[in-house]
Amino acid sequence: MTEPLPLSLLNDHLYCPRRAALKIVEGWRGANVHTERGDIVHEHTDLAGYESQISDSGAKIILLRALPVWSERLGLSGKCDIVEVELCSNLKLEISNLKSLKPVEFKLGKRRKWENDDAQLCAQALCLEEMFGVAIPGGAVFHADSKRRREVEFTPELRASTERAIGDLHALLHRSEVSNLRSEIPRPPPAVWTPACEECSLFDICLPKATGADGRAERLARKLFEI
Ligand code: SF4
Repeated sequence: MTEPLPLSLLNDHLYCPRRAALKIVEGWRGANVHTERGDIVHEHTDLAGYESQISDSGAKIILLRALPVWSERLGLSGKCDIVEVELCSNLKLEISNLKSLKPVEFKLGKRRKWENDDAQLCAQALCLEEMFGVAIPGGAVFHADSKRRREVEFTPELRASTERAIGDLHALLHRSEVSNLRSEIPRPPPAVWTPACEECSLFDICLPKATGADGRAERLARKLFEI
């Protein structure tokens, strides 16, 4: 069986396929002010543990932090920042007493919809559904800057696009493994400059304007060696 893919790579892939490829194929990791702020936002949710609350309706809600999740069917593993667990009765936290599960992902920035965040959350739900055998109709993204929460419905379309993206990532990993076996250098997808590049922690490694799909870097390299 192949190694499970890290869930967080799905977010990278939907942000930019080249970003995921630079991480998975070439092993690059980068940090910038956005990733460092992200680490601070996750300081609390990265501490495994739980706390309990009573909802407005009197139900007991358990908040599980940093819960490891995986899916054998999808070849994925990772963790959920928070999983809100509602119990059928206020007794024990055990599978037979689960009423509902809801993943909650913490993100930097103000409340706004990003396709990659929704897919990452949906992938967490797909893992939880497989692990616990319960249907999960929705989750939420908590936006740290505005301290507001955005509910996300796991529609059939979102589930299908999430599974497609996971399939694309496995195909990318497979191509890179085949290249390695043939002692070829795997080529990540070409850079396509977008405004998102300015916030990308791999900007200085990727150099999107120089290495872009218009082949500027290759043209310059050819010119350099022309006699
Ligand atoms: S700098 Fe732009 S093109 Fe390069 S990996 Fe980041 S988002 Fe993708």
